[in-house]
Amino acid sequence: MNIIFMGPPGAGKGTQAERIVQQFNIPHISTGDAFRAAMSQETALGLEAKKYVNQGLLVPDEITIGIVNERLKQNDCAEGFLLDGFPRTISQADALATILAQDGKQISFVINLKVNRNLLLDRLTGRRICKSCGATFHLVFNPTTVPGVCDKCSGELYQRADDTVEKVGTRLDEYEKWTSPLLEYYSAKGTLKEVNGELEIEVVTKQIDEILRGPAE
Ligand code: ADP
Ligand code: ADP
Ligand code: ZN
Repeated sequence: MNIIFMGPPGAGKGTQAERIVQQFNIPHISTGDAFRAAMSQETALGLEAKKYVNQGLLVPDEITIGIVNERLKQNDCAEGFLLDGFPRTISQADALATILAQDGKQISFVINLKVNRNLLLDRLTGRRICKSCGATFHLVFNPTTVPGVCDKCSGELYQRADDTVEKVGTRLDEYEKWTSPLLEYYSAKGTLKEVNGELEIEVVTKQIDEILRGPAE
């Protein structure tokens, strides 16, 4: 199954992706995670991406498409994959369709997580991430047992540099401008499924799971 998770920053794409890939045993491909890994290792890609990511702007299509193209060629994607945060522009979506068509593949489902803007702000400014394993938590909505310490691996939690009120505003504007037109794009193809992302984490997972598995007999 070839899945795309769409939704504005803070909608819960990463949180839901972590859960869904376990159930379906497919790789979780997050372009945001790929950029952050390259940035922390200070590779050429990381240094270039940093200029955009830390300002809350989208990384240019050429760079982003190149990363996804390489990743999708790897063997673990043969039986399916979950793309989290890609595509974010129409050009990226067109490129993805071309890449998949070369292997006779297509997108099975595009899941769009819908969350209102005020809630997105609260979610993003309270988001905390584990330095060691990348797990995502929230100070209020999904707190760890011990403050500042990851429940999964006891790693140290940090706040992303782009999760400040100011950068969040830019990111939501980028979403409106570049990414929201994709809803119509995938709706026209008949692959778009809307999910209410404001519900509790477990409830959202259940709804996504039902869409992916199809209606119960
Ligand atoms: P995205 O990947 O779409 O940016 P995340 O999965 O990182 O979003 O979630 C953003 C923040 O909101 C995180 O701190 C996460 O713990 C929290 N969160 C995610 N889903 C929910 C939910 N359904 N209810 C409450 N908080 C949530
Ligand atoms: P969020 O969880 O808030 O949706 P991500 O972790 O997915 O954010 O992405 C963080 C940043 O990485 C984005 O603000 C952008 O700078 C860059 N990025 C991630 N995916 C893409 C993409 N498909 N196209 C361009 N830039 C991207
Ligand atoms: Zn951890």
